[in-house]
Amino acid sequence: MSQLLMTPGPTNIPKRSVNKMLESFSIHHRSKEYSLMYKKFNENLKYVFQTKNEIITLPSSGTGGLESSILNLLNENDKVLFISVGVFGDRFKQMGEINNLDIDFLDIKRGRGFYLEEVKKVLKKEHKAVIVTHNETSTAVTNDIKNLSKLVKKEDRLLIVDAVSSLGAIDIKMDDWDIDVLITGSQKSLMSPAGMCFVGLSDKAIEICKKNKRKTYYFDYISALEYLKGDYPKNPYTPPVQLIACCLESLNMIKEEGLQNTFKRHDNLAKYMREELTKRDYEFYTHKDFYSNTLTAIKIKEQNAVEIQDYIKKKHNIYIATGQQDLKNKIIRIGHMGNVNKDMIYRTLNAIDDYNKNK
Ligand code: PLP
Repeated sequence: MSQLLMTPGPTNIPKRSVNKMLESFSIHHRSKEYSLMYKKFNENLKYVFQTKNEIITLPSSGTGGLESSILNLLNENDKVLFISVGVFGDRFKQMGEINNLDIDFLDIKRGRGFYLEEVKKVLKKEHKAVIVTHNETSTAVTNDIKNLSKLVKKEDRLLIVDAVSSLGAIDIKMDDWDIDVLITGSQKSLMSPAGMCFVGLSDKAIEICKKNKRKTYYFDYISALEYLKGDYPKNPYTPPVQLIACCLESLNMIKEEGLQNTFKRHDNLAKYMREELTKRDYEFYTHKDFYSNTLTAIKIKEQNAVEIQDYIKKKHNIYIATGQQDLKNKIIRIGHMGNVNKDMIYRTLNAIDDYNKNK
């Protein structure tokens, strides 16, 4: 049996999707056959993004998707508010620094998300954009984007959201919540290999891109949108056809389950995971107001998270994640997103029990 991935990405890829990938090697990216597949793929992406607008597919991991939003929409010295609740929020801000934005930074204490009052205090009229992480994977925190949007959109600002570890598993309504740029990656809840990111754009964001002074060739949104037009959509350059074939099947599975049911399944599994860990006396790293449905972070008092990870990998063929940076040995992060069910959670808990019995 192959190793069970219980990490917050990459995640387990369904057999059905792997089979579709294997069948796709002879598809040429300039053929009608590809265009018809890509058209269906885009329809499915719109469904999971909960938007009527086109979604851009870029051949890069999530990080490329995040940086592309800065390159397409923001110019040097644009005043921007970055809100960070962990490692991935910090990285997004670093991308803003490298690209010479004029940054205000709301740095939230690790282990929780932002409260709206905190944002209210620092939000300025001059902010052209607010940039934030929906689900912070380093701390297992989910932020309230719906209400943040109400606040941000009181003035004419852009809302740019990193939903790399949430979209497709935790509800995020691009159109209803008036999000301008919504970014995710292929290797998490969308149950595919790493290597693609997807960017949803509001009408307002598209207009800003068209007029933007800063230019990028490879990540150019407007060029990608042009190629999506018509009955036979394509890409500006060679796309990862096999990843698209794989991800199309995973998206078909989400459609078959129904997006709301997919959210419910993640909600139920996350609650089950938290209940079972509580019974075992584990303390959560995440403040209770911000629990994530795609991963759970627990404190490891003995500070031997790496040892636990190694044991579970060697003895049970299950791979879980430790903390990042200074949390490396202090927390364990268990991913439960995408192609996940109760049996997988049960096996992981069992492996933790085994470690505790034998340590
Ligand atoms: N943002 C979040 C919330 C993530 O969890 C990740 C990856 O784990 C990224 C961004 C970066 O994505 P990638 O590693 O695909 O570049």
